[in-house]
Amino acid sequence: MTEDGSGSASKSVLWLDEIRSDDLGAVGGKGASLGEMTAAGLPVPPGFVVTAQTYRAFIEETGIDEELFEAVDVDSDDSAALAEAEAAAKELILDTEIPESVREEILEAYDNLDDGEAFVAVRSSATAEDLPDASFAGQQETFLNITREDLVDRIKHCWASLFTQRAIYYRNEQGFEHDLVDIAVVVQKMVAADKSGVMFTSHPSTGEPQIIIEAAWGLGEAVVSGSVSPDNYVVDRSDGEILDTTIADKKVKMVKDEETGETVEKDVEDHKRKAQVLDDTEIGSLVELGERAEDHYDEPQDIEWAIVDGEVFMLQSRPITTISEDSDAGETAENDGEVLVQGLGASPGVSSGPVRIVRKLDQLDKVGEGDIIVTEMTTPDMVPAMKRASGIITDEGGMTSHAAIVARELGAPAIVGAGNATDALEDGQTVTIDGDKGSVTEGDVEPDEETDAVEEVKPQSPVKPMTATEVKVNVSIPEAAERAAATGADGVGLLRMEHMILSTNKTPERYIEDHGEDAYIEEIVEGVRGVAEEFYPRPVRVRTLDAPTDEFRQLEGGDNEPHEHNPMLGYRGIRRSLDRPELFEHELEAFRRLFEMGYDNVEIMFPLVNDAEDVVRARNLMESAGVDPEVRSWGVMIETPAAALCIEDLAETGIDFASFGTNDLTQYTLAVDRNNENVAQRFDELHPAVLQLIGNTIETCREHDIATSICGQAGSKPEMVRFLVNEGVSSISANIDAVRDVQHEVKRKEQKLLLDSIR
Ligand code: PEP
Ligand code: MG
Repeated sequence: MTEDGSGSASKSVLWLDEIRSDDLGAVGGKGASLGEMTAAGLPVPPGFVVTAQTYRAFIEETGIDEELFEAVDVDSDDSAALAEAEAAAKELILDTEIPESVREEILEAYDNLDDGEAFVAVRSSATAEDLPDASFAGQQETFLNITREDLVDRIKHCWASLFTQRAIYYRNEQGFEHDLVDIAVVVQKMVAADKSGVMFTSHPSTGEPQIIIEAAWGLGEAVVSGSVSPDNYVVDRSDGEILDTTIADKKVKMVKDEETGETVEKDVEDHKRKAQVLDDTEIGSLVELGERAEDHYDEPQDIEWAIVDGEVFMLQSRPITTISEDSDAGETAENDGEVLVQGLGASPGVSSGPVRIVRKLDQLDKVGEGDIIVTEMTTPDMVPAMKRASGIITDEGGMTSHAAIVARELGAPAIVGAGNATDALEDGQTVTIDGDKGSVTEGDVEPDEETDAVEEVKPQSPVKPMTATEVKVNVSIPEAAERAAATGADGVGLLRMEHMILSTNKTPERYIEDHGEDAYIEEIVEGVRGVAEEFYPRPVRVRTLDAPTDEFRQLEGGDNEPHEHNPMLGYRGIRRSLDRPELFEHELEAFRRLFEMGYDNVEIMFPLVNDAEDVVRARNLMESAGVDPEVRSWGVMIETPAAALCIEDLAETGIDFASFGTNDLTQYTLAVDRNNENVAQRFDELHPAVLQLIGNTIETCREHDIATSICGQAGSKPEMVRFLVNEGVSSISANIDAVRDVQHEVKRKEQKLLLDSIR
């Protein structure tokens, strides 16, 4: 194979520098992206793509195509049949010899790569032209440090990944024909990096024109996985000045074992541990490369790079997903306007816009892009308008109210419990809302470079720290799943089911009356599936329905809800579910269907249990619905003092985990209504009584080998994080905006505990 770039369609392989923009169908998304980087003159390690046509020719020329497509033509509601289909397809592909001419062409290309000595990475590259979601086209298979001997076999493994159970299920459900989907495979030389790391071409949270480079010795895995603290360099893009250099103590590095070719961790030589990884020239080269990449893609990039013998390579470039678009966090929060209203800062960030006062639901249409919603309290019907808004202000509510939770997930600044905002502010008036300070000021925010506000913006390290305690994220609106997954969290610690139901604007009973049971079940399946897919295989802990009667009453069909003096102490959570098993069974059936589809990352959590009797009754219903409690991961929330005090009995019921719902645990322990701003000052999740209940529960759970977690709002607070890590909690679930800080806080505390233990 030569690199002449001619006659691409008929060839089994295409070199990266041969790929043209219309080759997407032949080389898939990954191949096309590497081809584009190569064509843009960016220094990508050399490689080639085994085209989608090669896969097609393989199944057709060997005559396995018919048998293959027959094997995967199964009823996707039958999980056993799906599993069999995956196994049959895999066996057929792996056991069938590749035509000799194709094998030769692939190996010849490999030999041309580096005199036949190269270690290569082999990755599937889905061609998703016909599919709306590329992730379903094929499993994202990657094999590292592959040599000539194993190359063809690994390529076949990538082909077989087109037929995982989830991929089969998805194509069946979406009505895509299995025989119309193809897959390409990227084979690329691995670079034995002396130094490597990541680079953000703009500030990853504020978007400021600064290049941030993190660098360590050896291969990039150490930096990407967080197993080493890297050096950090901040460069001003306007003049190339290095604004800040932080040299870390780099204890370990990842290197390729010369004998086995595997990536192994080694201690860094003493003299290099505290030495600066990059010199000014290398920083200059990286900055130049970063600017070229950002110019080429026309948006800030997150780049993985490596340096070998002084030569810089770019391994990957993708858009930065963490820059806050909705808030002007990078601008000064100061404006000189008068403070009009003050409340609780419930979702961070600063934004300005015209006020839209919403007193009735039919006024939601007047909320346009960038407006500020001002209302008594938000409801699930308001979410579409909240998505358009640049900020949210409510008269009522605390840090755990609907407005606060949803705004944080949407990344929109919010102030809750502002008292009289709907009266004090005027429709159309331009205001600035500061979601950290909780203040609303008159007028627009004016960026002012003279102020020191820019320095106030806390630089977040772009790299995920590795922690022994898992750090997860809370999700309440399925639409936030993508943002939540981009945090790098270890899973979802709480997925609330309420929004999936309440956003239909009907009570479950009314919904079923109007659309039938199956549609109701599918509403839940689809809501959960979107999040479970986004995070797969990271676990997603789904909580069964827990809405109080006052929230149900606002919906169609809500007239039938009982009137309660105190809904927070009333008919909600597992109490309601156990009292209405015929409805609860639909939720459990939704779980059964999800498991059948292959979403084995879904976990089930029961809210507001008081004692073992509650738990056993819920478990029995789960079992009757066809969900095996011995096989699936399930557990309870600890939200009442009773549950915390009965933990010994709860442990006997077979739960796998217990998760602290500190929003409720605090309100019930302290008798402080969590939504009542008059007593908001008394709502203290760090109260010794609450901490004592949590500490004792963790201790008992550890004795019984039951995992513990927190999914209340307090999991985002540093003091609570330190307390929980000290007590030995297994995981912490935080708000989207707090995940990175919590990861760092956990790491710091874990390191301190380790140090204390050896001192
Ligand atoms: C809690 O009570 O802490 C919790 C996470 O549940 P919710 O806020 O939905 O009641
Ligand atoms: Mg709760």
